Amino acid sequence: MSTKPFSIAIDGPAGAGKSTVAKAVAAELDAMYLDTGAMYRAFGLYMLRRGAVGDRQAVIDALDDVDIAVEFIDGAQHIFLGGEDVTAAIREPGVSMAASDVSAVPEVRARMVALQQKIAEGHSVIMDGRDIGTKVLPNATLKIYLTASAEERARRRCLELEQKGMPEPYEKVLREMQERDYQDTHRAASPLRPAADAVTVDTTGKTLEQSVATIKRLALEAIGKF
Ligand code: C5P
Repeated sequence: MSTKPFSIAIDGPAGAGKSTVAKAVAAELDAMYLDTGAMYRAFGLYMLRRGAVGDRQAVIDALDDVDIAVEFIDGAQHIFLGGEDVTAAIREPGVSMAASDVSAVPEVRARMVALQQKIAEGHSVIMDGRDIGTKVLPNATLKIYLTASAEERARRRCLELEQKGMPEPYEKVLREMQERDYQDTHRAASPLRPAADAVTVDTTGKTLEQSVATIKRLALEAIGKF
């Protein structure tokens, strides 16, 4: 296998299993895993706390004083907002849509993309998000578009919430997921779409182990070639 740093981009809609698969493959290939959604979530949380998520000018102005940092503690990604560890807080209800709202602002994307590219520099990295193959890592060694039916993604998210002790009705989870996917795919700035050279992997009806095995095989093939 090549010893040059490689990069793998994994994009796709909410709940497709991107982070679970990326984490598992990164551990197997000894690469850094960066969850870029966490950065947009941290900024969404910042604007929620200021009560100004929908105020475009306030969002742009906030870029001057927001302090978002990513650290890896015992191999796990932690996200800090003004020095406060918000890794758990960014998963709370309401933050997903706030993240999607602020992420549609081009100035926000420019800041986050630059930060993501800086973190990845010089490392073998697996990044997941919405614009990794199209914008953040345009020359990635491998680009994956990971997807699954909306119903299956909502079922998985319900199970996850149940396991965390925060159950939500299936219909509500499905509706919110579809709303967020619509917003993410229809925005003008870096809308979610597969990169022209991405491999689409549909995980509907697949177990996590099967999805990890597929991505790992594609990764080893791509790394071996470059
Ligand atoms: O991946 P996750 O669901 O945590 O991302 C939260 C939101 O952040 C997404 O719905 C999307 O609007 C935004 N996002 C983005 N670009 C990325 C990662 C996330 O626009 N690279």
